[in-house]
Amino acid sequence: MSTNLKASITETQKRTVVEIADGVTCGGRSLLIVAGPCSVESKEQMDQVGAALRGQGVSALRGGVYKPRTSPYAFQGLGEEGLQILSDTSKKYGMPVITEVMSEKQADIAVHTADVLQIGSRNMQNFELLKHIGTLRKPVILKRGLSATLEELVNAAEYILAGGNDQVILCERGIRSYDNATRNVLDLGGVVALRQMTHLPILVDPSHACGRRELVADLARAAIACGADGLMIECHPEPEKSVSDARQAIHMDDMIEIIRSIEPIAAAVGRTICNPTLVKGVDEPQAEIKESHKLTGYETLVAELKDIRREIDKTDTRIAALLEERLMLAMRAGELKQELKVPSRDVAREREVLDLVGLACTDPRVAARVRNIYERIMDASRQIQVENALPKRVVA
Ligand code: PEP
Ligand code: MN
Repeated sequence: MSTNLKASITETQKRTVVEIADGVTCGGRSLLIVAGPCSVESKEQMDQVGAALRGQGVSALRGGVYKPRTSPYAFQGLGEEGLQILSDTSKKYGMPVITEVMSEKQADIAVHTADVLQIGSRNMQNFELLKHIGTLRKPVILKRGLSATLEELVNAAEYILAGGNDQVILCERGIRSYDNATRNVLDLGGVVALRQMTHLPILVDPSHACGRRELVADLARAAIACGADGLMIECHPEPEKSVSDARQAIHMDDMIEIIRSIEPIAAAVGRTICNPTLVKGVDEPQAEIKESHKLTGYETLVAELKDIRREIDKTDTRIAALLEERLMLAMRAGELKQELKVPSRDVAREREVLDLVGLACTDPRVAARVRNIYERIMDASRQIQVENALPKRVVA
């Protein structure tokens, strides 16, 4: 695959972080967990979904209103009525919403309601639609085609990026194979490979991948363990009664249970679940806040805290990347010291580093803390040099 694509990863390129709503991101440290029914069926159904998922670590709600169905006689979605339901649910529970569009016209309508537009598998190579989505300033989830290669997926994303919309999230949702024990084959190897091909964030949709509710939880956990930036999972207040994809829909309680079970896995791979306090309206229904159009003193402080946490998350992402760079340099320095047969620890050099970083800070209170942190960083550098030490040369 050409490495000259906007979507390609390069040595210096940072991973893209897509912000789908205030404080809700995909591609950074925080995982994007998208949950909701296959189709929006009624106001009551979406109300139950919002009420169950609010404040549980779900970052955004999903629900199809334009449904790509195999049979033209199957339920095709509620269309604009469904969009209104999504909009009401989003406002009431303060949660961003995601919905699929299959045509330019649908995109132009849904763009006013949805926080993220989804391009489904069947349209991954609908190039005219992709070009149009490229002209919109709206985050997009681009799902892998039914039998698309990773290269085709990245090139499909390129159509959107080339149009000027760089807010693209890829989604692995299983590919067709010969075994019908599962609906599709979840390509987790592909997720790992994609991370080495592109800087775009990658979601995993275990629901459409396996097509069987009893397999969803384990696949969701495996996806986070292998580095996915989030999940898209279909859940329903009465799963068996879902008007579409009933066999793969899980119950709301099971959805929440999956999130709880993912927390330690996320921590093990350096990720966090979307902090429920970052999603608006957790403490108070958003509708009430909207009605008064005024923020109380308490709400202003909560909003400020939320902004600061977002800044901290961005700063931490940068620090982690710089620390990685520094430790790699230290590793190389260790190899050179070994070759040169000079002692690995150089106390004078360490003092020099501490003076340098101390002088880089303007506030003396901060300077003292930064020097302390640097002592730990140099410990880590020494440790990594020891672990990386070349095997002793055999003297003839
Ligand atoms: C969906 O997410 O509702 C959907 C139809 O998915 P896919 O395009 O992956 O089949
Ligand atoms: Mn579905």
